[in-house]
Amino acid sequence: MAISFEILEEDIFGRTGRLKVGEKILKTPALLPVVNPHLPLITPAEMKSLGVGALITNAYIFHRSKEFREPALTRGLHDLLGFDGIIMTDSGSFQLSVYGDVEVSNSDTLLFQQSIGSDIIVPLDIPTHPDTSREQTEKELGTTMDRLREAMEILGPGAPLAAPIQGGAFPDLREQAGRTAGEMGFTFTPIGAVVPLMESYRYEDLVRVVLAAKKGLPSSACVHLFGAGHPVMFALAVAMGCDLFDSAAYALYAKEGRYLTTHGSKKLAELSELPCSCEVCRSHSADEMRQSPEKIRLLARHNLIVTLTEISRIRQAISDGVLWELVDERCRSHPRLLRGYRTLLTYTEELAARDRISKRGFLLVRACLLPLTVSHLVACRSTIPS
Ligand SMILES: [Zn+2]
Repeated sequence: MAISFEILEEDIFGRTGRLKVGEKILKTPALLPVVNPHLPLITPAEMKSLGVGALITNAYIFHRSKEFREPALTRGLHDLLGFDGIIMTDSGSFQLSVYGDVEVSNSDTLLFQQSIGSDIIVPLDIPTHPDTSREQTEKELGTTMDRLREAMEILGPGAPLAAPIQGGAFPDLREQAGRTAGEMGFTFTPIGAVVPLMESYRYEDLVRVVLAAKKGLPSSACVHLFGAGHPVMFALAVAMGCDLFDSAAYALYAKEGRYLTTHGSKKLAELSELPCSCEVCRSHSADEMRQSPEKIRLLARHNLIVTLTEISRIRQAISDGVLWELVDERCRSHPRLLRGYRTLLTYTEELAARDRISKRGFLLVRACLLPLTVSHLVACRSTIPS
């Protein structure tokens, strides 16, 4: 595989690592900002200056666009976007989830993504909505797995391919999909179709499907949580073993006049202060930002910096062995997130089996959040350093 992943340090199920794509290297956990070529609120060059090493854009937009298709094919994506880091391209599955149909086949999108020089190519998987029946979910998962096999045949086993893990809200199907993708040799595995769970704050289900996919996948697979872009949930997602995120949130929230923080988002209109130390917030007052003709761009820049900073903070927390403390703090800011966090804490055996969990934190949060039973106490005792 042209994509390899090395785990450096671990805490809970989270890890810091090194993703290698061809000759390009990315420290993980990492955020891939979403770039929409039609509306670049922040240019890829600006992103690079903020420390972004990888971004994601949608090949389907380039495939369908009169304006961008030919330049992408002749100049390549890196030249066209002005970015020499890792560029991942999505296939059109997102449009499939929104509109129910796309005018591109699996082989078309694979070859197109290869032709425009994408560093990480995504096959046209079927993003099964979590409310879909089991029968239909199984059928769609079968199609997704067939397309992953087809992708390996078309581009060859050494191609930089991602293998989206589907299976709707059924943990056993997610686990099976993860296991099969691992057996097929995939090293880069986004967990797909979880946006509806996050949009409806179904964090308990999110935890169950992510941990099920992780159970099936080899631990050496780099796991991308597709569509998770709000910094409030990164710590929990990393604690579950997710390594990469993509974010359009920084731009979408900016367009709605919303100011991101690690505890949630606020309406710029309601802020009297800008509670952040980034360059944007230090050089503008809340009033100045509101009145600026560049308001949306300024908000987007602040939102992206906050998001990137949270990822750095998480990497450091893993390094320091204090990821529990960070997860605990973040999840207490939203009752529904707290329910997801409690769900994670019920995976007692798996958590206790980790070589390096931050043991003090684990004991503390369990004691505070879950009623202790005898089996919990046994599990907790097994985490006490001897
Ligand atoms: Zn700021």
